[in-house]
Amino acid sequence: MTVIVAGAGPTGLTLACELARRGVPCRVLDKAPGLFPGSRGKGLSPRTQEVFDDLGVGDAVRAGGMPFPSFRMYSGREIVAERTLAEMLGAELPSGPDVPYPSIWLLPQWRTDEILRDRLVELGGSVEFGAEVTGFEQDADGVTVTVVRGGVERRERADYLVGADGGRSAVRKALGVGFAGETFETERTLIGDVRAEGLDGVFCHMLTRAGDLSERFGLWNLPNSPYYQFVATMPTDQVPPLTLAGVQELMVQRSGRDDIRLHDLRWISLYQVNVRMVDRFRVGRVFLAGDAAHVHSSASGQGLNTSVQDGYNLGWKLAAVLAGAPDELLDTYEAERMPVAAHVLGMTTEMHRRDFLPSTDPTPAIHQLDVTYRGGPLAVDDRAEPGRLRAGDRAPDAPLEDGRRLFDVFRGPHFTLLAFGGAAADGFDLPVVRVARSEAYDVAGSALVLVRPDGYIGVITESVQTVRDYLGRVSKGASMPG
Ligand SMILES: Cc1cc2nc3c(=O)[nH]c(=O)nc-3n(C[C@H](O)[C@H](O)[C@H](O)COP(=O)(O)OP(=O)(O)OC[C@H]3O[C@@H](n4cnc5c(N)ncnc54)[C@H](O)[C@@H]3O)c2cc1C
Repeated sequence: MTVIVAGAGPTGLTLACELARRGVPCRVLDKAPGLFPGSRGKGLSPRTQEVFDDLGVGDAVRAGGMPFPSFRMYSGREIVAERTLAEMLGAELPSGPDVPYPSIWLLPQWRTDEILRDRLVELGGSVEFGAEVTGFEQDADGVTVTVVRGGVERRERADYLVGADGGRSAVRKALGVGFAGETFETERTLIGDVRAEGLDGVFCHMLTRAGDLSERFGLWNLPNSPYYQFVATMPTDQVPPLTLAGVQELMVQRSGRDDIRLHDLRWISLYQVNVRMVDRFRVGRVFLAGDAAHVHSSASGQGLNTSVQDGYNLGWKLAAVLAGAPDELLDTYEAERMPVAAHVLGMTTEMHRRDFLPSTDPTPAIHQLDVTYRGGPLAVDDRAEPGRLRAGDRAPDAPLEDGRRLFDVFRGPHFTLLAFGGAAADGFDLPVVRVARSEAYDVAGSALVLVRPDGYIGVITESVQTVRDYLGRVSKGASMPG
C-alpha cells in the first residue's frame, strides 16, 4: 500500500504530510538534488495559514515569516506613497473571531518547503532527491512508475501516483490530458533573490524613475533574511542578461537609483505567464495537483496557496480509500478542485491586467476563506431552510466555552461533529463538540454539523442517520482519530 508523489514542492510535501500523519506509506520523489532555493510564491493566504496550523507547522510558519509588508512607492529617490496590500489590490481582508489569521503572511517559498519537509520527516517520511519520474503504466491494481536515478532506470510499483511535479509536469504529459489556455507572449517577468544596499525599512519597495508603476522594479524585504525578492516585468524583446550586472542595470534604468547596489544574486529566473489548466485531475490511479494541474499569473499570489490546498484536499481522500472507503471518494477531488482552479485562473488574469491600477470592478477574495465546495458531491445539507453557512463551506473557527477554540478541536486527521441546540450525537467514534451558540454558525434548532478532516463542512442536518450515512461513504476508519 504505497502512494508515489512526484515532486517535493509545496503541493507534494503537503500531500505527503497528510498521508504520513494517517500512517499511509508514501514516497516523495524529486528530480532535483535538493529543495528549490528561490523565494517564488511568498504570500500565504489566511486559508493556507489555517491549513498549516492543522498540519502542525503553525508555529514554524509564524517564526519564519512576517506580516505582509506595505508597498512603498518611489519616484526616483522620493517616497511618494505607502499603501497596504489590501489598499493596493482594493481587496478587503476579513477579520473576527472566526478568522484566526486575518492577514497575508510573508514567507519565502524555500522556507515553506523546508518547514513542510521537516514536518514530513517528523511524521516518519522523507524525500528522495535525484529521482526523476519519466513515465508510468497503470492497470486495475496499481501503477508502475519509471524512475531514473543517476542515469539508471528502474520500475517501481505503487497503488497511486500523484503528479505534483510542477508546471512542466512529466506526469501530466505522460497522461496526455488537455492543458488548454493561453501564453502571454509579449511580456516576460524577471524574478530572483538578491541582497541590496541603499534601501531603508521593511517594505515592498516599488522603484520607478518618475512614478509610472508599469515601469517599476520591485524589491521585497524577505523575513529573517538579508535577501530581497526582486520582480520586474518587461516586453519580451527587452530582457536584460540574466546576471547580477544585468539586474543592476535594469534596476538603475527603471529607478534612476545608482545609490542602490545589488549583490549576492542567489537565484534568478525569467518566466512567461501561462494561463492553463488540465481538463482532468484524475485518470484512474493517477492524479495531478498544484502547478501540474493549473498555472497562471502570480498577480495576487494564488499559485502556491491553491497548490497547497489541492494536496490538502486529496490527502485525506487517498488515505480513506486506501483504508477501505469507496473509490468514488477520489472522484470528488476533481469535482471540488477543478472549479476552484478555473476561478483562480480568471481572477489572477484579471488582477494581472489591472496591474495595481485603480478599478471599479469587484474586489477579489485573495484570502481564499470563501473557497467553497457547496453543491458538490460531498456537501449534504438537508435542512428545509438553509442558513448563510452551508455544507461545502469552510468551517469557521469560534471560541468555545471551555476556553479552547474550534480549530483546536479540528486540528488533526479526523472528522469532528458539532452538535448545536442539544442535538443527540452519541455513539460516534470521533470528537463531538456541543456548541451552545456561535455567531459564525448560523444554524437553527438542534442541528448537527459534520466537519471534514480538511476543515470543510460535510453535512448540516438534524438527522443522526444522515451523518452516519455520510461517514459510511467517506471513511472506513482511516480518517477517524486513533
Ligand atoms: C519563477 C516563478 C515565480 C513565482 N512567483 C510566485 C509568486 O510570486 N506568488 C505565488 O503565489 N506563486 C508564485 N509562483 C508559483 C508557485 O511557485 C507555484 O504555484 C508553486 O511552487 C506550486 O507548487 P508545486 O508543488 O505544485 O510545484 P513546484 O513548486 O514547481 O514543485 C514541483 C517539484 O517537482 C519536481 N519535479 C519536476 N519534474 C519532476 C519529475 N519528472 N520527477 C520528479 N520530480 C519532478 C521539481 O524539481 C519540483 O521540486 C511562481 C512560480 C515560478 C516558477
